[in-house]
Formats: sequence, structure tokens, C-alpha cells
Amino acid sequence: MSEHNGKLVIFSAPSGAGKSTLVNYLLPQFPELSFSISATSRSPRGKEQHGKDYYFLSSEEFKAHVAGDELLEWEEVYAGTYYGTLRSEVERIWAQGKVVVFDIDVVGALNLKSQFGDRALALFVQAPSVEILEQRLRGRGTDSEEKIQQRVAKATIEMARAPEFDKVVVNDDLDTAKAEALAILKDFLGAQ
Ligand code: 5GP
Repeated sequence: MSEHNGKLVIFSAPSGAGKSTLVNYLLPQFPELSFSISATSRSPRGKEQHGKDYYFLSSEEFKAHVAGDELLEWEEVYAGTYYGTLRSEVERIWAQGKVVVFDIDVVGALNLKSQFGDRALALFVQAPSVEILEQRLRGRGTDSEEKIQQRVAKATIEMARAPEFDKVVVNDDLDTAKAEALAILKDFLGAQ
């Protein structure tokens, strides 16, 4: 049995907090970490592949997995579009002696944390403020004003739940946030 058996690391953040940058920095430093591939009923976008980015299922298939109690958590993230974590996915990664990593929304993250307790590290990447988050979303130039307002509203609700996480990393200065997140992960994984 691996020393890492049965552990989970859950990253969550409001959109625009810089979570992807942090996760992309951290992952290569810990070969024992392996991403959980979520199931979704949405269609693949661009170059997304089944079994790599998501397990792309029809709504019927997704609901059959729910009925069979095969999902650890699931949500209708957008109207008519389901996302969730397959039990088999987590077990597949643990069977390799690895730690499962999640990049999911706040509700899903806290749901998993409540199921796994001390075996899970729930880490929230916090934006310095709602105003800065709004500026960052605008700076990306990828979203319409309406989408930005929707994301800001959702982010405000999500940011209020930060205290429910095990650890919060405020992404104000990126290098500081990277160092903090690295130390938190080393501590949880028992690295030297
Ligand atoms: P996207 O469609 O942009 O890939 O993801 C949309 C949203 O679904 C994101 O907020 C993402 O965090 C969330 N999401 C992705 N996978 C899961 C999952 O397995 N469970 C839950 N609860 N949310 C997920």
C-alpha cells in the first residue's frame, strides 16, 4: 500500500482567481498527483477528448450513472448540463497508489471534503477582491459584459464560502501564492 493511498487534493476558486496558473505550476512538482476526469453531459469543445478532458456522456447516460449511485458528487452546473465525479475514476487513481486531484466548483469541492474529511485537502484560491476579479475577467477579453456580470455574481457567492475550506491562498502576488500553495501541498503530502 502506498503512503498516499486514499488521499484527495481539491482545488476550487471563483472564475478569474488564477487557479489554473497555480495548478499548472504545482502539478509537475508532485508526480504522485493525478487528475480526476469528471463526467459531463455537455458536448466536447474544440480539441477536447473523451477520457482525457472529460468523460462525455449523453444526459440519459449521466442520469443512469446517478440512478446507479456511481457518482460521488454531481451537479446541474448549468440548466440541463450535468457534471460529476465518478466513483470508479477515484478508485482507478487510488489503485495506482496516487493522490486524486480535483479542479471543481465550490459546491462540489465542499461536498467531497465533507465525505472524505482528513483524507482530503480542500484548497481555495481567493482573488484579492471582487473588483480585481472583475478587472481580470475584463482583461481576458473573452467574455461578453453579460457573461462577466454573471461570473462576478457567482464569484461573490463563492468567495463568501472560502472559510469552509481547509486552506485559502490569496492570489494577489503570483509568486507568493505559488510559494504558499507549494508549502501547503508538501505539508499535506508529507514531502520533504
Ligand atoms: P466547463 O464546462 O467550463 O469545463 O466547466 C464548467 C463548470 O463545471 C466549472 O465550474 C467546473 O468547475 C465545473 N465542474 C467540472 N467538473 C465537475 C465535477 O466533476 N463536479 C462538479 N460539481 N463540478 C464540475
